[in-house]
Amino acid sequence: MLTLIQNADLYRPEPAGKKDLLIAGQTIVNIDDRIEAPAAWDIDVIDAAGGIVCPGFVDLHVHLLGGGGEGGFATRTPEIVFSRITAAGVTTVVGCLGTDDVSRRPETLLAKARQLEAEGISARIYTGSYQFPLATITGSVRKDVALIDMVIGVGEIAVSDHRSSAPTLDELCRAAAEARVGGMIGKKAGLVHLHMGNGKGGLDPVFRIVEETDIPIGQFLPTHVNRSTRLFDQALAFARAGGNIDLTVMGESLDFGRGTADALDRALSAGVDWGRISLSSDSNGSMPIFDEKGSLVRLAVADISSLYDEFRRLVDCGFPLADVLALVTENPARRVGLADRKGGLFVGADADLLLLDPELAIDTVIARGRVMVRDGTAVVKGTFEEDSVCS
Ligand SMILES: [Zn+2]
Repeated sequence: MLTLIQNADLYRPEPAGKKDLLIAGQTIVNIDDRIEAPAAWDIDVIDAAGGIVCPGFVDLHVHLLGGGGEGGFATRTPEIVFSRITAAGVTTVVGCLGTDDVSRRPETLLAKARQLEAEGISARIYTGSYQFPLATITGSVRKDVALIDMVIGVGEIAVSDHRSSAPTLDELCRAAAEARVGGMIGKKAGLVHLHMGNGKGGLDPVFRIVEETDIPIGQFLPTHVNRSTRLFDQALAFARAGGNIDLTVMGESLDFGRGTADALDRALSAGVDWGRISLSSDSNGSMPIFDEKGSLVRLAVADISSLYDEFRRLVDCGFPLADVLALVTENPARRVGLADRKGGLFVGADADLLLLDPELAIDTVIARGRVMVRDGTAVVKGTFEEDSVCS
């Protein structure tokens, strides 16, 4: 199957100007100023008509099985639905468990990731959950990362959070060392993905590990670091020291006013390397909604479309398009060790891409060479979604 996209304003994510792009099977095989399709070819030609073509989004923090459950079984959030992922422009997800590793297990998460792959996007997972002892598939983080194709690291391990298992420094060190060595053996990122809570210590335990052990700072990726200015200040110091940080989509917030836009402004002022920052949705995790007095009103579910909404908001706030794209494509792909095929438009990359209209609305989504969204509508549904045909 061949697909030719013509007249695209190409962002790799860095701007590349007017280009044509040819897809064969699941791979980008040519990018050039002009690619002519011989009439004899059986080829799907898409005229981008001056629209923008960019890499599909890589969301490195998605509760594929749902999350929550901290308020009793009624507060368990639902599994993600395939076409919601593609409709949001996301072509690669990395799944995690959360607080509840009693009723949700890494084996189930792996199965869900395999389902999403079978349905047509790309999926990876972290082994483990919030808690120690870490929930694993083989009995060891090291073996999970080394031997199971879809496992790229461990997480999200909760740190400085009342819902954590109050991990000791030794426990965190051991988990990081296991992920690192497993990653070396299996040629994976071996990432240690840390859920940062609002607790007293903030990133202190991670700073201590980096200072007192030989585990490199780049092994860790703390997320939700924009949940408070106090934590974010630590995160900026962490990034300036050579660490990577992940921000969670949050809309507007008490601490940051314009939300992520203000957080990013602060990161730029602090001289943080943009390449060290990624943005993720926390999709299908539970999202407590508080009233102005701080009392819990209800629990909502984070939606994966929030990543695209935040992308639009940041561009509207004046951040350059290529820079905002990097936060949701190239940078997260690098973090999870997939940048040789994901997060960028180059020959040899997987054909995961978006066609955006001049107003940046999603027109077309292609995942692994297959059109998933056309004219803004998901044309491929998950196996048990309405209107789908199960073959
Ligand atoms: Zn989390």
